[in-house]
Amino acid sequence: MATEQESGDDGRPAELDSLELAPDEGWNALYVDGDWRPQGDREDLDVVDPTARDAVGTVPAGTEEDVDEAYAVADAAQPEWAEVAPEERAAVVASARELVETYHEDFARLFAVECGGSRLKAEIELDLTKGTMAVAEDLADSFETEEREAIVDGKRNLLFREPTGVIGVISPWNFPLYLSMRAVAPAIALGNSVVLKPSTHTSLVGGLALARLFDEAGLPEGVLNVVTGRGSDIGEAVAGHSTPSVISFTGSTEVGREVGAVAAEQLSLPALELGGNNAHIVTAEADLDRAIDGGVFGSFTHQGQECISINRHIVHESHYDEYVERLAERAESLPVGDPRGDDEVLVGPVQNESQYESIVDLLEQSVEQGARIEAGGDHYDWFVEPTVLSNVDNDMPVAEEEHFGPIAPVIPYEDEQEAIAMANDTEYGLSGSVHCEDVERALDIARRLETGMVHVNDQPLNDDPGVAFGGVGASGIGRYNAEWIMEEFTETRWVSVQDEPREYPY
Ligand code: NAD
Repeated sequence: MATEQESGDDGRPAELDSLELAPDEGWNALYVDGDWRPQGDREDLDVVDPTARDAVGTVPAGTEEDVDEAYAVADAAQPEWAEVAPEERAAVVASARELVETYHEDFARLFAVECGGSRLKAEIELDLTKGTMAVAEDLADSFETEEREAIVDGKRNLLFREPTGVIGVISPWNFPLYLSMRAVAPAIALGNSVVLKPSTHTSLVGGLALARLFDEAGLPEGVLNVVTGRGSDIGEAVAGHSTPSVISFTGSTEVGREVGAVAAEQLSLPALELGGNNAHIVTAEADLDRAIDGGVFGSFTHQGQECISINRHIVHESHYDEYVERLAERAESLPVGDPRGDDEVLVGPVQNESQYESIVDLLEQSVEQGARIEAGGDHYDWFVEPTVLSNVDNDMPVAEEEHFGPIAPVIPYEDEQEAIAMANDTEYGLSGSVHCEDVERALDIARRLETGMVHVNDQPLNDDPGVAFGGVGASGIGRYNAEWIMEEFTETRWVSVQDEPREYPY
């Protein structure tokens, strides 16, 4: 289980000492206008290692003045960057992508230290990060002028795509490098400039690491600026600033609503990727082996801390007892422990204290209301053992709310309508999955789920940088990835040419 890690003279874990990613000044700096701005008289923010529950470093708590300056710098740098040839912009993103490869092991260690992530999680996140960067490189060069027929004789309608300008990016702590990069890479490739505010819980891997990558890749000064700081101090300044044309936010629905409101006040486009309450439906015609394999992966990967993790298993009554028993056996067999050096560990600590307390609270309330613990249930020092709950109904706190933890509540159903109604009985609509050997039937169920994404004979934890990602309802507005992010990060301009003299009515 969680053990104290060996540390150097300065109290930092050995991993951080050897981190080549660290800028010369250490991590304790903001990145504005291509400069590492040392902390100065700004407050400290601890960088916490969740396994040791201890600070391993600090970063500056950026201020509203820092945000103003970052936006001013981004605004000044953007027009020139937009003039750079698309293939040159793509080449900078490609160099940064190659650096992700070069620093693979540093990132894997950093994910373990700052996120409590397993080796498996690091590999998944690094693949997605490189994937989203590669897709962004292709986007840079995909601006094609389109011509549309005109209703006026002798006119040509031309449609140009231009970068939208400055983009504010606010990211969460669960997959921080990837979730920052999926906005930053296409924004930059498409000729925009960026102000990035990472989560307070992952200032390094969600923020300053991206600054280091693009700095080393030769991105011109001011195109990417990173301001670390608390959401409660500077979040509104970032989201409600008058400069950006888009606010790209990934995080909770609660904060997303506030971000959307202050962005809209400035007429900035809010692109919001928010929470989920994803159902894994196992029908009577499911292949139970596949449904359970998917159920384990979708519930327990990275301690269930993904917006697209399984929040509820909705299982046909004919399979219920066997499903619960086998899921519980699998949960008990998962290696839980310190991920900072043991690549076999699959379940590490919860990333932060408030998240840990929230999971434990939802679990305890549900058990009080009659949920039965079939596996796990123990929790200590920010660790929650992989937990399977039976006797759950859809109104219990673990099922009704996004628990965001390594908990698998299993709910029985009798008929298909009931399963669909239960799955849809949530304000969220992000991802989901359906297991049924009759694929046509599975597709029919999938189409009736009110979500942005559904995966047949798989589980909800899927992202593919080439395919539209996003939710409906309280799960957000807009789509990430490929041409869908291009809609948000570029403006379409209509220019018409009247080739023949036009006949006006008077
Ligand atoms: P959070 O909403 O607490 O924080 C997200 C970001 O918002 C952080 O950078 C935070 O500092 C900042 N913030 C906090 N208060 C703010 C304010 N008033 N104004 C502006 N910014 C503010 O979310 P979290 O705890 O970091 O992440 C977990 C949540 O994110 C879960 O609900 C999860 O489902 C969601 N999420 C969604 C997706 C998706 O793609 N849909 C992906 C990952 C996580």
